[in-house]
Amino acid sequence: MSDELIIYIVYVIPLVLVLFFYTRRHRVRHKVHKETLKENVASGLTEPATLHPVIDPNICIGSGGCLKACPEHAMGIIHGKGVLISPANCIGHGACAFSCPVGAIKLVFGTEKRGVDIPMVTPNFESNIPGIFIAGELGGMGLIRKAVEQGKQAMDSIQKRGRSKTPHDVVIIGAGPAGMSATLTAKHHGLRSVTLEQEDTFGGTTLHYPRGKVVMTAPMNLPLVGKINIKETTKEQLMQLWEGVVAKTGIKINFSERMEKIEQQGDAFKVTTSRGSYETQSVLLCIGRRGTPRKLGVSGENLEKVVYRLLDPEQYRGKHVLVVGGGDAALEAAVAISNEPGTHVTLSYRSNAFSRVKPKNRKLADEASKAGQLTILLESTVKEIRPKSVLLDQKGDAIELHNDAVIICAGGILPTPFLKEIGVMVETRYGT
Ligand SMILES: Cc1cc2nc3c(=O)[nH]c(=O)nc-3n(C[C@H](O)[C@H](O)[C@H](O)COP(=O)(O)OP(=O)(O)OC[C@H]3O[C@@H](n4cnc5c(N)ncnc54)[C@H](O)[C@@H]3O)c2cc1C
Ligand code: SF4
Repeated sequence: MSDELIIYIVYVIPLVLVLFFYTRRHRVRHKVHKETLKENVASGLTEPATLHPVIDPNICIGSGGCLKACPEHAMGIIHGKGVLISPANCIGHGACAFSCPVGAIKLVFGTEKRGVDIPMVTPNFESNIPGIFIAGELGGMGLIRKAVEQGKQAMDSIQKRGRSKTPHDVVIIGAGPAGMSATLTAKHHGLRSVTLEQEDTFGGTTLHYPRGKVVMTAPMNLPLVGKINIKETTKEQLMQLWEGVVAKTGIKINFSERMEKIEQQGDAFKVTTSRGSYETQSVLLCIGRRGTPRKLGVSGENLEKVVYRLLDPEQYRGKHVLVVGGGDAALEAAVAISNEPGTHVTLSYRSNAFSRVKPKNRKLADEASKAGQLTILLESTVKEIRPKSVLLDQKGDAIELHNDAVIICAGGILPTPFLKEIGVMVETRYGT
């Protein structure tokens, strides 16, 4: 065999093969990411919720570091540059920015089109209203560990205000990571506190993660509990962790009690809730940014069978279920339940088309409808919810359906108008 042939076999062919597969992989990736971006633009899912990355294409070298670092699959590479291809998936923890080898990514709040309201707080988490404190994601920064740390620090600041003349030293609103940590810290300091949570359990946003979601966090210190040494976990393990914390420390949370109003009374506050009222020297708002689920305001909505989120489709096996809404959450819930054996699912939406949803969800809903698994009632509204049925109106026709459960996915009432109403100063950020 000639030397030239040996060089060709040993070096040139492997090199050509490597180049071929490398280029093909990148071409496929480029195509997939471009498609994802196109799909999200078509569905109107172009605005990130809060903190998110902005990539400088002049600095980006297309290393793909951000892509690997992003656990929410929000980043992509198009034409060799990093792009936020699924803005609505971004939770703003900044792993992409930290992973970028050339510093091409910066994290900003809001976009040119849509401003994000961030309450103005001092370094000790107090708002412009003395006695009203803000911790966790409501303050702008997402992430479990940050919420936990801020809940603790805000409560340390509240403790420094000293004993109050009011029955409570502090009312903590919200039992997500920030509220849980604040509640533990209040107990640790011996403060007279009460924690209110509008939902029927703790965990806040973490409770709403999809089943089995991988949760990225960092080791954190929980007051009364000690160091929690986790970096990567699942939603289910995280919920077990919160349950263990409550069992170990005996902290008490008033579930299904929603804060409705905060009024200043001299140096103190009156917090009115769905169940009563509390007089307190300080208020700590740990209410996150998801807001309060929007209600339909119909008779029977307070029945136990009515919920505002889907946790486990399996629980609806063999049942007649009504899902209300026309967004992705409603379609995903209706399709997931319709896939469970023995279910009779109806999806009611007031408009004549599902216009602002992911094409994938629209397709799945259409398929379930064609397969007879799901009944879609467009241009329909719920008139009344009864213990064993629901009354709907569709273009003037009254419809009564047998019903065991109602899931309302009608969006949420965001917390910022409430902040402005009580006088908390907020700053609107447009991509800064
Ligand atoms: C899909 C998704 C994935 C995420 N993944 C990660 C991850 O992997 N790692 C990570 O670190 N972070 C992640 N996050 C972010 C993280 O979940 C949040 O930053 C964190 O939960 C914020 O905690 P919080 O206590 O400030 O607010 P929340 O967790 O939102 O809790 C607020 C609580 O306040 C309650 N509340 C609101 N209004 C009222 C009222 N009027 N009265 C009574 N109660 C009220 C709510 O019901 C809720 O329980 C993710 C977020 C999302 C949406
Ligand atoms: S901030 Fe987090 S979720 Fe958003 S793109 Fe970066 S790594 Fe992904």
